[in-house]
Amino acid sequence: MKFKRNNDETDVFGSQEMRQPAPQEFIPKHKTPAEIAYQIVKDETFPQTQPRLNLATFVTTYMDDYGTRLMNEAIGINYIDETEYPRVAVMCGRCINMVANMWHSPEEAEWKTGAVGIGSSEACMLGGVAAWLRWRERRKAEGKPYDKPNLVMSTAYQVVWEKFCQLWQIEMRTVPVTVEHPTLDIKAAIDMCDENTICIVPIEGVTWTGMNDDVEALDAALDKYNKETGYNIPIHVDAASGGFILPFLNPGKKWDFRLKWVYSISTSGHKYGLVYPGLGWVVWRDKKYLPKDMSFSVNYLGANITQVGLNFSRPAAQILGQYYNFIHLGMEGYRAIHENSMDVAGYCHREIGNMPCFKNYSEKLENPLFIWYLDPGYDKTAKWTLFDLQDELMKKGWMVPAYTMPKNIEDMVVMRVVVRQGMSRDMADMLIQDIKDSVAVLEKLEYPTQSRIAYEKSEKQKGKVYTH
Ligand SMILES: *Cc1c(COP(=O)(O)O)cnc(C)c1O
Repeated sequence: MKFKRNNDETDVFGSQEMRQPAPQEFIPKHKTPAEIAYQIVKDETFPQTQPRLNLATFVTTYMDDYGTRLMNEAIGINYIDETEYPRVAVMCGRCINMVANMWHSPEEAEWKTGAVGIGSSEACMLGGVAAWLRWRERRKAEGKPYDKPNLVMSTAYQVVWEKFCQLWQIEMRTVPVTVEHPTLDIKAAIDMCDENTICIVPIEGVTWTGMNDDVEALDAALDKYNKETGYNIPIHVDAASGGFILPFLNPGKKWDFRLKWVYSISTSGHKYGLVYPGLGWVVWRDKKYLPKDMSFSVNYLGANITQVGLNFSRPAAQILGQYYNFIHLGMEGYRAIHENSMDVAGYCHREIGNMPCFKNYSEKLENPLFIWYLDPGYDKTAKWTLFDLQDELMKKGWMVPAYTMPKNIEDMVVMRVVVRQGMSRDMADMLIQDIKDSVAVLEKLEYPTQSRIAYEKSEKQKGKVYTH
């Protein structure tokens, strides 16, 4: 059968493009009508998981209509064009002020010292670079060598810290998280410090487990250590999730600038700050902790702009989204939304803990996310692993990730749920039912799955024998 060429009346799905592969290697020579091009691009993402069923991500997948509208209307604004859009710079400064004050900044200046980033990754990099440069200045002033900087944190670090250490050639010293020490072991962390330690990085909202490192205890131990040694090792808190959770759900807990050695904190505005990606914030305790080498004065389009950041151009829309959320939600609104997330997460945590095949990693929920693993007794005779459960749930549209834990407990397979704005109790009920149905399917298996066979092979090599 011969198809007709397109003409003015051709429907999108009657067009010749819809029976050809989409362009892949070269920019097409000829034009494609806008509505057909739109359909091709749109359909490319059509079979993907619905963002709100993606329980793997920490990043915002729901904003209300006004927030979405503001961001869409600002989609063409480049944040760096301060001369053209001076009010964006003002809004950004106000957001930094609000974030800094939420974290009890002691800085008295009208504009607190901080910076916007694409996410926590950029914010962590900036916090890390500042710590490194401060250490280097101090070493130089003392006439001591400054070629072997190191940084101390737990093995449950987020990958950005590995990037930071590799890019800036800083030795990464990691304290193992273990079943006995599921968060940063403070004594071990202090034992790893020396005169070359640029900072210790505790995490609030550990990506791997959902738990919080004890920054208050770390601060106390570090204060003692710094007094004894004469060092000045500070803390950078990676509060990618916790920075926007603790101030609302646990305002009495000291983890921020209320603690003496916390010199900088980073967070993701696009996680529990409830803005679409990408947005991060970093705040310093005071201007004096932001090394001068990090501020770049650029003469750009006739104005002198001082900029702290790794990027130059970046979208401004997220800043509008953040400022809108601060005004619209207020402390009260953020608290209500996060309380609901905690509530729904707590419900899932209980339901999963009650299933005989599962065991929760921690009894208590500190953040609206948690991990669990196969009950060790059940695991001995199971013909499946959590990777199989992940696949089963994927068939029902959910993305619930299974993964192995970091070094030292890497033979442990866990599964994680991150609850965010947009996950209701009703959706949680659907999820729990789908988990139960999937387990029922897996329990009917006659033979072990491929993933089970691989898992047992690796277990046997370690001398642990499981039998069916
Ligand atoms: C998500 C996360 C990061 C990286 O943040 P992005 O906003 O994705 O760049 C860093 N640290 C922790 C603890 C995180 O959870």
